[in-house]
Amino acid sequence: MASKHNVGVSRRGFLTGVLTFGMGAAALGLTGCGSPRSFEAEAAENIIDGGEYDIIVVGAGGAGMAATVGAVDQGAKVLLLEKMPVAGGNTCFAEGGINACCTKFQKAAGIEDSVDFMSADTYAGGHEKGNMELIRHMCAGSSDAIDWLDSMGITLSKLGTSGGASVKRIHRPESGEAVGKYIVKGMTEQCRQRGVAAVCNTKVEEILIQDGKVAGVRATNPNGLPVKYACRALIVATGGFGANSEMLAQYRPELRDAVTTNQPGTQGDGIKFAQEVGADIVDIDQIQVHPTVEQTTATLLSENIRGDGAILVNTDGVRFTNELLTRDRVSEAEWAQPGRGAFAVFDQSVHDNNLSVEEKFVSRGLIHVADTFEELAQKMGVPTDTFVNTVTSYNDNIANGVEDPLGRTKSLNPLVKSPFYALPVAPGVHHCMGGLRVNVKAEVLDASGNPIPGLFAAGEVTGGIHGGNRLGGNAVCDINVNGRQAQETACAYVFA
Ligand code: ADP
Repeated sequence: MASKHNVGVSRRGFLTGVLTFGMGAAALGLTGCGSPRSFEAEAAENIIDGGEYDIIVVGAGGAGMAATVGAVDQGAKVLLLEKMPVAGGNTCFAEGGINACCTKFQKAAGIEDSVDFMSADTYAGGHEKGNMELIRHMCAGSSDAIDWLDSMGITLSKLGTSGGASVKRIHRPESGEAVGKYIVKGMTEQCRQRGVAAVCNTKVEEILIQDGKVAGVRATNPNGLPVKYACRALIVATGGFGANSEMLAQYRPELRDAVTTNQPGTQGDGIKFAQEVGADIVDIDQIQVHPTVEQTTATLLSENIRGDGAILVNTDGVRFTNELLTRDRVSEAEWAQPGRGAFAVFDQSVHDNNLSVEEKFVSRGLIHVADTFEELAQKMGVPTDTFVNTVTSYNDNIANGVEDPLGRTKSLNPLVKSPFYALPVAPGVHHCMGGLRVNVKAEVLDASGNPIPGLFAAGEVTGGIHGGNRLGGNAVCDINVNGRQAQETACAYVFA
């Protein structure tokens, strides 16, 4: 019988990487033999006993933390395992915001949106490859996710424009702070308040099965020793495989040597260990490159910068694309330019709206800054007359209401406030659209479409929503809607 007490894993600091052993009951004493490896067989190997939990969440990124907070609130005894020294995952690096429709913040701003609009944008942005049932489920839950975060003091009320969105739908912190850090900070505090700490430096290696159901995991502890944890339900929230060059090369050979914006722990572990117990995968070769990555440091320049007004200029000093097309199309356009890259050019107003520009690029000397377009062109090494003409005619067209020759219709904000900025950018691996096959209940499915008992997944480790291209703002929506969905289904399973 599952326990129903409101107990977290550890009351120590969330980011300290402290490993806790022996909480809860000792061995499960289960019998029988599961596939591929039984819990009993593991126990016989003198593995350290990490205790027994209602729910184990693997991966302390955005999806894992949403699942953890929700499950603790439903009374589950939860263990959150994280292989890196700190929590946050790729979520920590999310810049843009969270897409959501019909929110109180949109309503207050007079923006008309709907589940239909957001679903249609997501489906079209994903090249009509996404699973409409999963898409609609995410979009329908998005406003509630915004309210849930807001109820915990994580307020995302500043609306912006993002590529592929037909209305202002991306929600960001008022401060201009990057959304990922803001959410991770807030969720870390929520976990702390519930007495939950991520057990860091602990890598889950394998799912243990008993009588055809998930019964636990085998992990490696910070000392390199094997440890087993028993559970009734497992939520896999391990993110994608964007830092695993072998997997990238396996599914998309041309991306083997591309820079990646992903943190080094993004190795596709969850996909691999879930496949070993029969999980099916979907859209696995759909890997997103992001068009504005600074190549020497693989640092992402947020899509917000274009959403707020930046233009892209090539080394000849001319624009070459509608900058607000979806990420894959802008990336393709960049690859077709001399040097296979471009400069993102913007003014001080855009800078002021996005705090991360200063921290990530200006303070590190990665970006050209100048008081005039002429001076900026010289620093960029592009033909001065052509560049000045590019920017001034862009500004003049806006002022005169002339249609943009490249078809840009949104965020037509003139570059007028000095100083001006130009960052050299090119595409980099950013997001894995494919992953574990799940249903709207976040149950992981096998090749026959049947749920694997006790196995749930959420976030970038899953596939199906984003199809062939993920819209900016939809990853953060996905992790919050489906992180909570996974814990809801897992709790119902555990407490049934
Ligand atoms: P999402 O956006 O889906 O939440 P993130 O990349 O933000 O994904 O978070 C996934 C987290 O899972 C990362 O912190 C990563 O280090 C962690 N992780 C990946 N593989 C494992 C593993 N085998 N064991 C424990 N944690 C893992």
